[in-house]
Formats: sequence, C-alpha cells, structure tokens
Amino acid sequence: MLADKDRIFTNVYGFQPWNLEAARKRGDWDNTKKLLEIAPDDIIQTMKDSGLRGRGGAGFPTGMKWSFMPKEPKPGKPNFLVINADESEPGSCKDREIIRHDPHKLIEGALVAGFAMRARAAYIYIRGEYIREAETMYAALDEAYAAGLIGKNACGSGYDFDVFLCRGAGAYICGEETAMLESLEGKKGQPRLKPPFPAGAGLYGCPTTVNNVESIAVAPTILRRGAAWFSSFGAENNRGTKLFQISGHVNKPCVVEEAMSIPFRQLIEEHCGGIRGGWDNLLAVIPGGSSVPLVPAAQIMDAPMDFDGLRALGSGLGTAAVIVMDKSTDIVRAISRLSYFYKHESCGQCTPCREGTGWMWRVMERLREGNAEVEEIDMLQEVTKQVEGHTICALGDAAAWPIQGLIRHFRPELERRIAAKNGGAAPMMEAAE
Ligand code: NAD
Ligand code: SF4
Repeated sequence: MLADKDRIFTNVYGFQPWNLEAARKRGDWDNTKKLLEIAPDDIIQTMKDSGLRGRGGAGFPTGMKWSFMPKEPKPGKPNFLVINADESEPGSCKDREIIRHDPHKLIEGALVAGFAMRARAAYIYIRGEYIREAETMYAALDEAYAAGLIGKNACGSGYDFDVFLCRGAGAYICGEETAMLESLEGKKGQPRLKPPFPAGAGLYGCPTTVNNVESIAVAPTILRRGAAWFSSFGAENNRGTKLFQISGHVNKPCVVEEAMSIPFRQLIEEHCGGIRGGWDNLLAVIPGGSSVPLVPAAQIMDAPMDFDGLRALGSGLGTAAVIVMDKSTDIVRAISRLSYFYKHESCGQCTPCREGTGWMWRVMERLREGNAEVEEIDMLQEVTKQVEGHTICALGDAAAWPIQGLIRHFRPELERRIAAKNGGAAPMMEAAE
C-alpha cells in the first residue's frame, strides 16, 4: 500500500477544509515563488524525467507535450494552457474529488505549468453538471487572486498569469480537447481534425496545451520532491502515483491514490474490501472508464494497473476508472447501455460515428434480447471495425471497443441468448476465456 508520506492528494476524502489556509497547512503554495525561479525548460525537463503520462486517459507524456509549446510566443499569439475538467467518462470521478477538496493544488499547478510553457493564462473547462465543484473553484480562485498568488506579479515573481473558469453545458464530446477549444471560443463543441495539434493551433488559433486536472495538480509536488521521487513508483514507462476510482461490485467503492502498476487484486483487497460475494463471484472488469474494452476475471486478477500492462490484455488504463462487475451483471445489457451512451453523445459530424453508433446500439439491443441471428455477431464485429479508426475523434473508437471486448470474451453468452430465444439450451453466463 502506498505510504501516507508518498500521497500527493492528502485531502482526497475532504476530511479537512479545501480553503487556502488549510491548503497551505498541507504544503500547497509553499514558497511557490522559488519554483518560478527555476528556468522554464528545466521545469519541463523535470516533468519529462518524472515519467508523468497524461492522466486524462490517453497517457501522452506530459513533459513532452509541454515542450511542444513555442519558447518565444509571437506578438498577438500568446500561449495558453487549457485544463480539462470536463470529466464525463462513465466511471470517472477523480477530478471531481480534486476540485472539491484540493482546488489549490490545481491552481498552483496551473501557475507552474503555465510558467513553464510561457502561457499568458489558463482556462479551466469544468463540466456543467459539476455545479458545487464550480462554486468551490470560483471561491478558491478568488482566494488565490486576493492573496496575490495568481494575477499580476503572481507570488511576487514578476510573472502575470490569469486563471479563468468556464462551465460546460453537459456535452460529453466537449471533453475532447479540440471540441473543448471550440466550445471555449463560443462555438458548437465539435472536434477538429488533428493535426494540427493544439500546440500548433489551439485556442483562438494560438499555441495551446490541453492537460487533465490530475496531470496539472501533481506538477508542484513533482517539482518540490523531484522527478526521481515520482518515478520511483510504478513500472518502466508507467511511472508515478495515480488516483484510481473503483466502482461497481466491490464491498467499498472508493477513490484512492496508489502507485501505478499495482496489481488489480491488491488494489481491490487493500482499498475496497474485496469483491462483493468473494473473488469467485467476479465476472469482468472495465479497468479504465467506459472507453476501454472489458477484461474477464481470470485475466485481470494479477494484471498491473498501468497503461502497458492493460494494453497487453487488449484493454487500457484510460482514466483508471475501474468498473467491477460480479456474476449478477447482465454483461450484454451493460455494454448495450454504454453503446446507447456513445450514440447519444456522438456530435454527428462524421458518418461512421453518427450512423455507426446508432446502428451498433440497435444490434446490441437485439442481441441483449436474443432477438438476432448468430451471423449478426460477426456483422456487428465488422461494423465496429468500420467505425474504429475512421472518425475525426476518439469517440468512434470508444464506441467500438467495448463491443469488441464483449464479443471477444463473451461470445458464448451472445449465442446462448439467441439459442434461448429460439427454444435452445441456456447455460450459465461465463467468460469464454
Ligand atoms: P490522443 O492520443 O489523440 O491525444 C492525447 C494527447 O496527446 C492530446 O492532448 C494530443 O493533442 C496529444 N498528442 C498526441 N499526439 C500528438 C502529436 N503527434 N503531437 C502533439 N501532440 C500530440 O487522445 P485523445 O483523443 O486526446 O484522448 C483519448 C482518451 O481520452 C481516451 O483514451 C479516453 O480514455 C480518454 N477520455 C477521458 C475522458 C474523461 O472524462 N477524462 C472522457 C472521454 C475519454
Ligand atoms: Fe463527432 Fe463522433 Fe466524429 Fe467524434 S467521431 S467528431 S463525436 S461524429
């Protein structure tokens, strides 16, 4: 178990107040001016050395992303930092806890990250449903401005840096970074084609880095404790500590900070009190939020909870939103419900996604009822392949992958339902492998 001394988020359960006074006692804003005396490129190098990979789901190396920003912004083209707090991935709720209980970690992180990237300002884009969290964030920003920590001459460093909070309006797709930029510009939130990546042409056409809340909030601690400390946790290429959000059929669902690469069984035993009904009752796990394929019980038990370990199982760490399903779960219904989610949230801009998500959901519903032909399982698989990789943004992939995981691991269950509908035998549901 991660030692308390190695936790970055010491107030994740909100046992202490979120406010500036309490945050200072926890070590936030501790001589931040000194951090701003480090050369920007040295800050970026420290982030690179720490091995931090983006905590929003994709796992892109954070320090490398920062290094893409122009070192000398052109007149009229300021650099911007955009912080993605549009946390909407089903199963994900870690950024919410940071904002609720540790908003000053995020603001201080925004300042040092913005400084390293020579940014003029940061925009925090928070999901519309996070109403109380937005209130906390506004209040924390007021505190930081009043204390001279941000704004003109931030922390007495001579660096001017503003932080703005913008509220979304309930669209999942605005969490996609380029849709977020469109939305910030006051337009309909639809993803842009990449490249250009935001560092080349981002907010208002200016160089922009979009980072997840957790990626930014850990930056001051990494700078204070050093890259070697952070990279001492986790396996090669999967470094640091990480907030895991465990929901579903465990005895104690929770959000907890742990070392990357912790084995699944250990994570659940130590923090969640085990699986509801015991380990024999585990059916499958979605380890990284709804966008990644499920992993059957037998494969996930000893798997390291990190980007590479879960990719090797055909899944992914994503946002580390671990959705645990025991044998009472109607797995076909669960995946069909996710299909509906993606159909509902598709922005409709590209045909494979707009048409394919609806198509996939309708077939999934028929498979759920067993009201289909066996051949349609292969046809559905083929449709997912036509959607995957053929769309502007990752939502198309995200809609395809859960279905692919279901077919890969639970094909017998799909066939059983069809047979049962036609009067055939109906054995118990188990994963194929
Ligand atoms: P991506 O791999 O396209 O990009 C990841 C980041 O790296 C982006 O910021 C991108 O600009 C940057 N990047 C990638 N290649 C680059 C290059 N060659 N040059 C410069 N920058 C480059 O992934 P994505 O579409 O941004 O995100 C997909 C992920 O989002 C999924 O894995 C999913 O887990 C996650 N997700 C999270 C939530 C949430 O609520 N947190 C919601 C939906 C999806
Ligand atoms: Fe919109 Fe879907 Fe295309 Fe993404 S993949 S741009 S959500 S239609």
